[in-house]
Amino acid sequence: MTLRLGVFGGTFDPVHIGHLLVADAVVEALGLDRLLFVPAQRSPLKADDPRATDSDRVAMLEAATAGDGRFTVHRVDLDRPPPSYTVDTLRLLAEAHPGAELTFVVGLDSFLDLSRWRDPAGIAALAYLAVVDRPGIAASSAERDVRLSAATATLPALLGRWTLIDAPLIDLSATDIRRRVADGKSIRWRVPEAVADHIATHDLYRRTT
Ligand code: ATP
Repeated sequence: MTLRLGVFGGTFDPVHIGHLLVADAVVEALGLDRLLFVPAQRSPLKADDPRATDSDRVAMLEAATAGDGRFTVHRVDLDRPPPSYTVDTLRLLAEAHPGAELTFVVGLDSFLDLSRWRDPAGIAALAYLAVVDRPGIAASSAERDVRLSAATATLPALLGRWTLIDAPLIDLSATDIRRRVADGKSIRWRVPEAVADHIATHDLYRRTT
C-alpha cells in the first residue's frame, strides 16, 4: 500500500497549537498515514528578538508530538547547508521514502505567493499541496477564493494538485508566543504543556536587554 506522507515546514520557534490543529486537520481531511514536521533553518534576517536554537526547536517539536503516532519530526532542512528550498526538501524526502505519496502543507499566504518560489512546477510534481487558511490573510472567504483562482491560474502545473483544507482558524503565531514570554505573560493553552515546560526550564524567549 502507498504510504501517504504529509510534510509541514516552518520555523516552529516555538511550535504552538495553531500548528498542531493544522497538522491534525490535514491528516484527517486527506487520510494521511504520517505527517513530518520539518523545522527550517532560522532566517538570519529576523534575528532581532530572542530565538531558540535548532536543538531547542527540535526538542519542543518532539515534546509536542510525542503522544501522537501520526506525527514525526524530521531534520532534513537542519542537517544540510542553507538555503533550503522546498523543492529540494521534497526531493530529498521523496528519495528517503521511495513510492510514498507526498502532501506538502502550505499556509494560504505562502501559497498565494508560490509563483515566486524556486521551481513551483517541480514542487507540484513532487507533492500534492494542502493549503491552510489563516486569520488576517483574506478579508472574507469570497476574497480568498478570488485570490486563489487568480494565483492558481498563472501556474498550470497546479491543476488538480492542491486543495484547501477546512482547519480551525486560530489567530496565533510563534511571534505572539515569544512576545508573551518576553512580557512575562502566560502561554498556557497556547502551546502544549510540555512545550511551556521546556521554555520555562531553558529560560527561552526572555528579553536580555
Ligand atoms: P513566526 O511568528 O515566528 O513567523 P509562525 O507561527 O507564523 O511563526 P511558522 O512557525 O514558520 O510560522 O509556521 C509554519 C507554518 O505554519 C507556516 O506555513 C504558517 O503559515 C503556518 N501557521 C502558523 N501558525 C498558523 C496558524 N495559527 N494557523 C494556520 N497556519 C499557521
